[in-house]
Amino acid sequence: MTAVLHERLRGDVIDVTDDRYDEARKLYNGMIDKRPRVVARCTDVADVMAAVAFGRDEGLPIAVRGGGHNGAGFGSCDEGLVIDLSPMKGVRVDPAQRTVRAEPGCTQGDVDHATHAFGLAVPAGIVSSTGIAGLTLGGGHGYLSRQYGLTIDNLLEVDVVLADGRLVTASESEHADLFWALRGGGGNFGIVTSFRYRAHPVDTVHGGPIFFAFEHAAEVMRWYREFLPNAPEKLSPFLGLKSVPSTDPFPRELWGSRICALVSCYDGPAEEAEVAMKPIRSELPPPLLDGCAQMPYPALQALFDPLLPPGLQWYWKGDFVRDLPDAAIDVHLDHAAQAPTELSLMHLYPIDGAVQRVGADETAFRHRDATWSMVIAGIDPDPTGADAITRWARSYWEGVHPFTMGGAYVNFMMEEGQDRVRATYGDNYDRLAAIKGTYDPSNLFRVNQNIVVA
Ligand SMILES: Cc1cc2nc3c(=O)[nH]c(=O)nc-3n(C[C@H](O)[C@H](O)[C@H](O)COP(=O)(O)OP(=O)(O)OC[C@H]3O[C@@H](n4cnc5c(N)ncnc54)[C@H](O)[C@@H]3O)c2cc1C
Repeated sequence: MTAVLHERLRGDVIDVTDDRYDEARKLYNGMIDKRPRVVARCTDVADVMAAVAFGRDEGLPIAVRGGGHNGAGFGSCDEGLVIDLSPMKGVRVDPAQRTVRAEPGCTQGDVDHATHAFGLAVPAGIVSSTGIAGLTLGGGHGYLSRQYGLTIDNLLEVDVVLADGRLVTASESEHADLFWALRGGGGNFGIVTSFRYRAHPVDTVHGGPIFFAFEHAAEVMRWYREFLPNAPEKLSPFLGLKSVPSTDPFPRELWGSRICALVSCYDGPAEEAEVAMKPIRSELPPPLLDGCAQMPYPALQALFDPLLPPGLQWYWKGDFVRDLPDAAIDVHLDHAAQAPTELSLMHLYPIDGAVQRVGADETAFRHRDATWSMVIAGIDPDPTGADAITRWARSYWEGVHPFTMGGAYVNFMMEEGQDRVRATYGDNYDRLAAIKGTYDPSNLFRVNQNIVVA
């Protein structure tokens, strides 16, 4: 069967008989172990079109893989076809127009590397190995979101291979319905083969972690909820309940201690950052560690990469959060104190500022009135710990869920069922379902947080 695919593709076609099969089916989340029938490593749009036609004609489930970072493992599937876009890594920066065209196999690091040469950046996430494709299609938030919005708020145009095999361009002026749906609706509508983004002048930034002793966590969280709404948008501090990694360059005496962290990025020179961050340094108890420094933006983006190599076990759950009442803080601290592993964490990522200046119905991403996107992640290098991190993340989430807005960022969800997908899209769900009916009526692209045709 795969001989046909070999003939039609320039890229590699890998099935179970190939020595590279186990490597080719691996995902970032080591907890996911799927066995596809075949992996098509596409090198260009023609390969993607051929692979879609093959999967459709053979009646195979189709998984689309960009960076392979998806927590639920939607970058692969059992007994189906994986359309692996990782060889498609072209990036073209237009410094005069401040736009960037990127292929879907790029990681954030690939895009940051290319844009930084021109003193530019596209707002995206905070770990450089994350794929831009999955991140963008879910929304995309990171250090520059308060200032410049979500990744989708900076998306100008995409090329998409549809379920019927056609390639179309979607933007505000062409296939505007599809463009609306792709900005938050995930991989439901087709395979994006090119993203064109608006970039912003971002060069060196001031950032890094500040760690406070866990005994001060309640005070830091209460202070943070008041500070954030009034903080300049060039400053983005996210809050974490986590542990000091037992590795250099962290001070040995702190290794493994539970802490409350504020991890910041200030987009500007050190002198300005000092002023913006002064309240953090003067209004809170003395930190255990202040690791902030001036650095190139891509360096901040890659700061946590060494701590999070591929292959760890991950179980995560998310929710959007508007307020952080004292009662919620108490629940957070109870659960965070019982984290089963050093890497397990809770992060609150700010998505106020520019994110909130886009209407809830202007893109598929619904929760524009949230202050934070929360993730609770159980993480363990040891596969035997998979059950313990899963139990902890679920129980933590059940504790804090009543204090949240209900839906979660689609990129921070496991396979959690239709109710969760509906809660996430809220009023936008029916419009998404109608657009799904137009572009993918037979649900060819269903290995994702699936939108069901009405
Ligand atoms: C360590 C880590 C840090 C993270 N940090 C952030 C962060 O700071 N901000 C943030 O917003 N998110 C963050 N995420 C979440 C991240 O956005 C998701 O995991 C996302 O799914 C990753 O995209 P990918 O291309 O790597 O995933 P993949 O697993 O390759 O794909 C994920 C999904 O996207 C779809 N897809 C991928 N490529 C295409 C395409 N070209 N066309 C159509 N559909 C496609 C697939 O169908 C699949 O459902 C992080 C994840 C990890 C593991």
